[in-house]
Amino acid sequence: MSISNLSRRPLSEQGIKVSFEFFPPKNEKMEQNLHSAVEQLAPLGPEFVSVTYGAGGSTRERTHQTVSHLAQNTDLTPAAHLTCVDATKEEVNEVVREYWKAGVRHFVALRGDPVSGVGGNYRPNPEGYQNAAELVAGLKAFADFDISVSAYPEKHPESPDFATDIDMLKRKVDNGATRAITQFFFDNDTYERYVERVRRAGIYVPIVPGIVPIHNFKAIANFSKTCGTHVPAWLAERFEGLENDPKTTALVASAVAAEQVMDLVERGVEDFHFYTMNRADLVYAICHMLGLRGQNGGNGSSGGNSDRSAA
Ligand code: FAD
Repeated sequence: MSISNLSRRPLSEQGIKVSFEFFPPKNEKMEQNLHSAVEQLAPLGPEFVSVTYGAGGSTRERTHQTVSHLAQNTDLTPAAHLTCVDATKEEVNEVVREYWKAGVRHFVALRGDPVSGVGGNYRPNPEGYQNAAELVAGLKAFADFDISVSAYPEKHPESPDFATDIDMLKRKVDNGATRAITQFFFDNDTYERYVERVRRAGIYVPIVPGIVPIHNFKAIANFSKTCGTHVPAWLAERFEGLENDPKTTALVASAVAAEQVMDLVERGVEDFHFYTMNRADLVYAICHMLGLRGQNGGNGSSGGNSDRSAA
């Protein structure tokens, strides 16, 4: 069944667009998982695939390796996450030069968190980019990169209020960011209200919803606390009693994510960013429901043109 059967809303000419986020693998086994996730998702034709940067810049080399691998061995457009944490401007610029040489033209520019995590103890490096807005300006001064930035429908936990939060988003966009990707959320009304606030503030770039598939409810609920995402009671109830039942959890998670995404489509959203956790199964299923098909008919195999080294 295609999206036109599922949605009452006519789609624009461009139709549904997706992007996928991965994290850099720590060991060989994780590397294999990443390659097979990339191989399965690549035929869906994502706008770009992004690779995260560990807290405190802890994955600098691994992020670079993963992004360069995707740039050189696949037809995908890779985007490198980059933060300001614990680095001078010159150190960050050096990383950017390396990416430029590897053919990377898209960044997800972030302030980032200290290694100790989010929670108000961020100290900018005196010789570094002081925040994400400065980083965006630094990247734009280097080249006309495609730059994505973060957005927080429930506001960032360190922001005193929405006005301060949206002001930061405006500074990032004024400095050249081309789209914002949201922190994950579960309440679509919250997202819609946020987009209205953002538009009222004169920000017109796409605010792409970040969708997280729930592979492990407890882990997501804990993470939600640190990043300020509200977990509605109805969501907790759906996963209640399934702690030791991964099969049913996967089925429920798939239904939950599909409901959220289809409701967003009804509200006019056509652009989605998936936090894949380096797993393709759930994201592939949701994309399939959105009407996206692999080039070989959607059986999940890339036919060899996605991640060549993974073959
Ligand atoms: P900014 O956009 O600069 O700020 C966010 C908000 O926090 C602003 O609205 C501002 O009001 C407030 N704020 C910022 N600094 C201060 C301050 N000093 N005092 C008070 N308020 C302040 N983290 C990683 O480490 N690696 C990643 O790869 C990564 N990828 C991400 C991708 C997405 C799509 C998102 C949404 C988040 C990601 N993060 C990542 C998390 C992000 O680094 C943290 O949320 C971090 O705390 C803020 O970085 P930012 O760029 O969002 O901050």
